[in-house]
Amino acid sequence: MKPPVFDYHRPGTVAEALAVLAELGHQGKVLAGGQSLVPLLNMRLAAPAHLVDVNRLGELDEVTSDAGAVRVGALARHARVEHDREAFAAIPLLRQAIGDIAHPTIRNRGTVVGSLVHADPAAELPAVLVLLGGTMELARAGNGGRRQVAAADFFVGPLESALHPGELATAAVFPRSPAGTGSAWVEVARRHGDYAICGVGVLVTLDQGLRVEAARAACISVGPVPVPIDLTDALGGKPHDAADWAAAGRLAAAAVDPEDDIHATAAYRRHLAGVLTTRATRAAAAHAAQRAEAAR
Ligand SMILES: Cc1cc2nc3c(=O)[nH]c(=O)nc-3n(C[C@H](O)[C@H](O)[C@H](O)COP(=O)(O)OP(=O)(O)OC[C@H]3O[C@@H](n4cnc5c(N)ncnc54)[C@H](O)[C@@H]3O)c2cc1C
Repeated sequence: MKPPVFDYHRPGTVAEALAVLAELGHQGKVLAGGQSLVPLLNMRLAAPAHLVDVNRLGELDEVTSDAGAVRVGALARHARVEHDREAFAAIPLLRQAIGDIAHPTIRNRGTVVGSLVHADPAAELPAVLVLLGGTMELARAGNGGRRQVAAADFFVGPLESALHPGELATAAVFPRSPAGTGSAWVEVARRHGDYAICGVGVLVTLDQGLRVEAARAACISVGPVPVPIDLTDALGGKPHDAADWAAAGRLAAAAVDPEDDIHATAAYRRHLAGVLTTRATRAAAAHAAQRAEAAR
């Protein structure tokens, strides 16, 4: 399969990229790692007249961690974030989830920000950004051309984000969770490296007495966008090693509204959301207790 004909642009700076994107408007499409866009082009499911390759924008190739957040620039590949020690120490969920994205060769090339803009409802990172309450940084040419969009507003539908034509996503900001928080990512896929039939990320925050203070999940592949679920009602106040994890699973199963498709029935996906949430909450609470122990 070969892609339809397109004009190719390779700007050397962010300013140049924004100028080209502004001129092209609806006709232009950003090319980052190409791990989602190139298959779509080859299968003729997308036919942009112009591709704007951002791989020379070295200024966007950065991962920084500070007291508040991990900021991932638009050229940082999945593998870079997965193996970044500071990012892992700040937000273990990033590595936990990225390890389930495709295969190492794809993670060497695909970008975190590209995955977020692509907004696949089966992708791990949109759920991670939603779960952590993160934001996307977007830029366009001209004065006042920068804006930040909260994750809850960024994912609009399957393969649809709040990015406007002519805009470039420059970074994603993943906030740190409060002290006492542990995390887990679990998923089921037909084959290792495939998109998940269902996946669940969980954050559990423990108080000083190692009881659950708050618990949240985000599920993928069970709706058009990641589904955030507050599990605190099921687990709040319970000991970190003896809560009713299955109650959290039941809450999650009731909260999702999947549809049948060629890969699985809606009932099976709902079942998985429950089972995986049960497992992930137990694992995240154990992780939180382990981190609390290490911090003493
Ligand atoms: C076999 C295979 C298996 C995969 N399995 C998984 C999986 O299990 N989980 C998963 O999450 N992903 C999976 N992927 C997708 C992979 O993670 C991609 O890397 C990612 O979805 C897109 O990142 P990219 O940098 O390659 O973006 P590209 O393919 O270059 O672009 C994707 C889309 O985002 C837009 N875009 C990219 N960057 C920007 C930007 N900075 N500003 C504005 N628009 C931008 C593009 O215009 C395009 O519309 C898989 C891919 C393959 C080929």
